[in-house]
Amino acid sequence: IDFEHCGFPETLNQNLKKSGYEVPTPIQMQMIPVGLLGRDILASADTGSGKTAAFLLPVIIRALLEDKTPSALILTPTRELAIQIERQAKELMSGLPRMKTVLLVGGLPLPPQLHRLRQHVKADTMLNMGFQQQVLDILENTPGDSQTILVSATIPGSIEQLADQLLHNPVRIIT
Ligand code: AMP
Repeated sequence: IDFEHCGFPETLNQNLKKSGYEVPTPIQMQMIPVGLLGRDILASADTGSGKTAAFLLPVIIRALLEDKTPSALILTPTRELAIQIERQAKELMSGLPRMKTVLLVGGLPLPPQLHRLRQHVKADTMLNMGFQQQVLDILENTPGDSQTILVSATIPGSIEQLADQLLHNPVRIIT
């Protein structure tokens, strides 16, 4: 199946084409329909799997249909990853009505070695870096009906625990 046949808004289809996305990757095939249903998701995904678009696409489509502001909050362990995700979000959202992104990062650049981690890190790195309490504090202050999508390179016991605290009846997508 091609993105063209997914029933997405035409502008989004054009943006996908411009980015060179024609066919969804396996994780996108699994995450997009579940994400569109509004279900919580616990996913493991490797580097280069297309995980970013796998959560951005349902987030963008749901934001188009809703009137909430802000529609989505994306937490990442590193500044580099935040910048990359915003870049991809801007590409996908281009020309769509009412869509805006705001990038919020700390003031200091991270040590260069962290940059190497950038493409294959998510929730597990967030825990290793000691951000567990911050993540919990933030999510406790999001509306109760929020959808939470947790993507991690690996799902160790610590992530399972975090998922138990944060996610409601999540769909597990293990790739
Ligand atoms: P990610 O795993 O999110 O870091 O994505 C890895 C790379 O694959 C990024 O450069 C994306 O732009 C690209 N990508 C994501 N989804 C697709 C797709 N369906 N077709 C082609 N490239 C993609």
